[in-house]
Amino acid sequence: MAEIFVDKYNCIVCDGELQEKSKYGLCEDCKNKLRIVGDKICKKCGRLQLNEADYCLTCKEHKRQFDFARSCVVYDDVAKEIVRGIKFGGKKYFAKYIANFLVEKYQSAFDGVDIDVVIPVPMTKKGKAARGFNQSWEIAKRFAETVGLTADDKIVAKIKDTQEQATLGGKEREENILGAFEVKLQEAVEGKSVLIIDDVMTTGSTASEIARVLKEAKAKEVYLLTFASTKYKVEK
Ligand SMILES: [Zn+2]
Ligand SMILES: [Zn+2]
Repeated sequence: MAEIFVDKYNCIVCDGELQEKSKYGLCEDCKNKLRIVGDKICKKCGRLQLNEADYCLTCKEHKRQFDFARSCVVYDDVAKEIVRGIKFGGKKYFAKYIANFLVEKYQSAFDGVDIDVVIPVPMTKKGKAARGFNQSWEIAKRFAETVGLTADDKIVAKIKDTQEQATLGGKEREENILGAFEVKLQEAVEGKSVLIIDDVMTTGSTASEIARVLKEAKAKEVYLLTFASTKYKVEK
């Protein structure tokens, strides 16, 4: 029996039916559960700040190789579901919804910054083969296309398999990621401003290491834009 195809949209998190197509793929309830990262942030890493200081403790204690990082939402609840969906659930099509968040953030937080090229956080060949795609690249492509920038996933390569950063502490993350990336096309970054795109920023050590090799290759500026950033951990 032939099926009648009806345009129907469902929320990508709770599967609830949407009244109309949403640019974020979310119903109102799920969208309202997202904690938007506003203006009260660490000026360097862009994570939500709990006090009035300009910089968070991590940025005060560590040298950050990127110029600044910004993110759209706090990595909890609904944001986690979305990231897990694209990263571990094979839901590649989430990329276009995530990219829409990034576009909005880019327009407000990168005013006055001229970006020459957009790159994803690369994966090793093995890592990409296991997942089937690099979610950062899927997001970066769509983001760049929407804002009219050039995206390139051949500029930086990941040359060393590393442990999943989420399983490690701050210090271990830095050691784990050291020497993991290599600039393959120096002429593409020399004197240029590079924007790295990723799904989540945790401590920022991955982005900082990519920024380090980019600056070694004479990139002028390096920025990071992610969908989510982790919650600031406070001592209890
Ligand atoms: Zn929903
Ligand atoms: Zn910070």
